[in-house]
Amino acid sequence: MALRHILHVDLDAFFASVEQRDNPELRGLPVLVGGSGGRGVVAAASYEARTFGVHSAMPMSEALRRCPKAIIVSPTMGRYQEASTAFFSILEDFSPLVEGLSVDEAFVDISGTERLLGSPRDVAREIKRRVASEVGLIASVGIAPTKFVAKIASDIRKPDGLCIIGPTEVLAFLHPLPVKRLWGVGAVAQEKLAGMGLHTIGDVANYPQNILEKKFGVAQGSHLYALANGHDSRSVTGGHEAVSIGHEQTFSSDQSDIAFIENVLLGQCDKVGRRLRRHDLRARTAVLKIKYADFKRVTRRQTLDDPTSDSQVLFQTVRTLLRSLPIDSNRGRAGRVRLCGVSAANMENRHGPRQLGFHEEERAKGERLGDVMDKIKDRFGDLGLTRASHTKPRD
Ligand SMILES: [Mg+2]
Repeated sequence: MALRHILHVDLDAFFASVEQRDNPELRGLPVLVGGSGGRGVVAAASYEARTFGVHSAMPMSEALRRCPKAIIVSPTMGRYQEASTAFFSILEDFSPLVEGLSVDEAFVDISGTERLLGSPRDVAREIKRRVASEVGLIASVGIAPTKFVAKIASDIRKPDGLCIIGPTEVLAFLHPLPVKRLWGVGAVAQEKLAGMGLHTIGDVANYPQNILEKKFGVAQGSHLYALANGHDSRSVTGGHEAVSIGHEQTFSSDQSDIAFIENVLLGQCDKVGRRLRRHDLRARTAVLKIKYADFKRVTRRQTLDDPTSDSQVLFQTVRTLLRSLPIDSNRGRAGRVRLCGVSAANMENRHGPRQLGFHEEERAKGERLGDVMDKIKDRFGDLGLTRASHTKPRD
């Protein structure tokens, strides 16, 4: 199998960091996110709090005993959700293969993108830079040929870590680590392994596989042996049943101005088209998502006759969908929009065969224009380069 480059990207002290980002007076202080009631549990602890031995899932009473000066903050899920969406949206700019493990961590398979995006180290640095500048949070990144090793690598240099384990370094990296780092080894298995004299991953790797299988059963025994020897063939799968590429935005105030919303959609279609082209994909379905001020969500999909990566075609499609929806300030919160988003679904390879359409020439032109804009944007950044019909939305 070709060498894989798998990133595991994980936000540091996610909930606590969002609170410190949004409340500057909390920066540098031990912050605990969670319920302050007698039976509350720590949902997240800032690094300042962790130095006192506090960690998430610890009872709040115990956390306060260890760190009496800690400041307790109630969770604000809406802001965590927004940060999470922005985080995943950045990751999806680098690969269509993004597998979320939770709100703040994901695997990203960037194999084969070196020519396009630079070395894995460059990609990791760029992801960290964008997460810092666009979301205001710190991400740690591990890079390895397998998911198992990438996940450990992102953890081992936290916070603000970047750890790259090349294919020839995997065993030297794994073997000194304690067995509890192996996936599937909890307290019980750990004790059992200790009873067999196995304390490090290297101990397991050098143990006879057939005896491991006898003691743990064939499935778990062979699994432990394979992981300990650096074998993990699981691939990164898109977190959703169907991979989609999308962008969405929450407005700073609710909107019923159709022109405003269309302008935002146009910018989103530009981004979606760009990502489709970057990954050599075309979408067969365009999806419009709207959330009203009363939090009602509406999703409308349109299947295209011709799969496309042309931002203008996507925009015309979602604009038609938008115009079929009730948006009217006279309807109050039910007629005002707080979020809009565009995504592309049912994707196929852009270089795959397809039927020539009546408008082949126009279609090819739209995609070529997109390619040229992409190249310029890749080189010079987004500044000042938009289609003539796209003026900056006031927001
Ligand atoms: Mg995290």
